[in-house]
Amino acid sequence: VIVFLVYRLRCVPRDAPNDPFFLGEPLSTPLFIMEDLHTTHLIASGRFGTVWKGQLSSVPVAIKVFSPAQRQYFTNEQDILNLPHMTHVALPKFYGAGERESVDGIPEYLIVMEYIESGSLTEYLRTHTLDWIKLCRMMYSAAAGLAHLHADFTKADKSKPAIAHRDFNSRNIMVKADLSCCLVDFGFATRIDGCHFYRNGQEENAEQTSLSDVGTVRYMSPEVLEGAVNLRDCEASLKQIDVYALGLVIWEMAMRCTDLFQGLTTPEYQLPFQAELGLHPSFEQMQVWVSRNKQRPPFPDIWKDTNQAIRALKETIEDCWDQDAEARLTAMCVEERALDMTTLWENRHKGTPATHR
Ligand code: ADP
Ligand code: MG
Ligand code: MG
Repeated sequence: VIVFLVYRLRCVPRDAPNDPFFLGEPLSTPLFIMEDLHTTHLIASGRFGTVWKGQLSSVPVAIKVFSPAQRQYFTNEQDILNLPHMTHVALPKFYGAGERESVDGIPEYLIVMEYIESGSLTEYLRTHTLDWIKLCRMMYSAAAGLAHLHADFTKADKSKPAIAHRDFNSRNIMVKADLSCCLVDFGFATRIDGCHFYRNGQEENAEQTSLSDVGTVRYMSPEVLEGAVNLRDCEASLKQIDVYALGLVIWEMAMRCTDLFQGLTTPEYQLPFQAELGLHPSFEQMQVWVSRNKQRPPFPDIWKDTNQAIRALKETIEDCWDQDAEARLTAMCVEERALDMTTLWENRHKGTPATHR
């Protein structure tokens, strides 16, 4: 209870521009000259485009290429990346967007951003394990990136609106060389202001738009699966949907943390619900499992509550994926908790009666 209270007290709203990881504004709207851009090789064929590694002059970049059929995702992603105060260590640097003709004369639309070396979090966790400190750093940076997206503030006469990611999952998180996380893929992201929200740069009416139409089925929250998103405060609702997915992502990271499986082999990487529903769960299967049966990925028995650090981790994950959307933590609160958790491993036996160790 005391640990919980301390967390709650520390979760006071913080002025986002004072965030030490906020990098300040770029000098001008990012622009580039198409002749300076060179594509080297294909990195990934995603759902809504292909991503290439390339160079802008001598700077390594990632180039996301959209076809005319995918143009709305290009417009949306560009609109989001171009908003004021989008410079943050857990978001990719945006170098600009452009249009060119492909070899067969068809237009293609490009987004040029910072190239992130170590690939997606899914791939990283598949091939690496983490220790507690690395786990905390990853958890912290993923939450910090999401908290920055969610924050709205005005600085230097420019306002950053609140942004919901709407497709938060371990494939849309990149791992940087220092093992911190960087959020990508703003194709579904939405800027929100109370109940006004904007997609592809245009205002849309929340009442007329289903808020359950996007995302990755495996990471959909119970209210999205039920089509029961609270539309009266869609700003809060969309943030709560992102935080639900953050809980699943933290579980994925924690399941690869060697310190948490002391003496035992760390299990192979698994997607959330992979053990129960396999690699391609349907919307209906997810609906039954997550929404009706209120199931979540299980915690291993070895994660004992008598260990203060493990208890804090489990509470944080559970407070992210709560069935009741309004009871979930904010991303900023997860960020603060992750920071506190770093030191908890050292103190893990303190305050626990010896008989309960
Ligand atoms: P989609 O909307 O098609 O899912 P993403 O933006 O998620 O497209 O990109 C698809 C994949 O491309 C990602 O999962 C990742 O592996 C890779 N990728 C995306 N952005 C970057 C980047 N900035 N640096 C390195 N790889 C990236
Ligand atoms: Mg993606
Ligand atoms: Mg996408």
